[in-house]
Amino acid sequence: MIKCYNFDIVCQEIPDQITLALNISGCPHHCVGCHSPWLWRDEGVPLDEHFLSLLIGKYSSGITCVCFMGGDQAPQQVNSLAAFVKSRHPELKTAWYSGDEEIPKSITVKNFDYIKIGPYIAEKGGLRSATTNQKFFIVEKDGRLTQYHFSPKNSF
Ligand code: SF4
Repeated sequence: MIKCYNFDIVCQEIPDQITLALNISGCPHHCVGCHSPWLWRDEGVPLDEHFLSLLIGKYSSGITCVCFMGGDQAPQQVNSLAAFVKSRHPELKTAWYSGDEEIPKSITVKNFDYIKIGPYIAEKGGLRSATTNQKFFIVEKDGRLTQYHFSPKNSF
């Protein structure tokens, strides 16, 4: 089972959302220059529906989105947890920050409102770099993906 190393309430990762960001350990990518190498280890609290419900219950009045940061070792678990959030908390958006090159075919994109893909490549930079390899998509209601381009000028 995937594990939650820690979590935070953030405003920059998802446009126009106040996001409960769940940092998932056991990252399989091991990118050179990784900002969070401690997430390579398999440590933390099992991230299941019960734990997710407790967290959302505690912070629901202050958040608009739940983002799964990682979990590429078990995309179907991330997918199931996103579906769970959608079913129990339709007022919340769901997002996934994946380090994979492509969205796994085994997931249902409509379980998410936002999906980011791509490993971190230091010379190309992160989402706000003009040369980034990473992609951030808004998932439309019909499942189409619209790429969103981060810019240092974005005001959110
Ligand atoms: S995907 Fe993210 S957490 Fe994983 S190694 Fe790359 S930068 Fe680090």
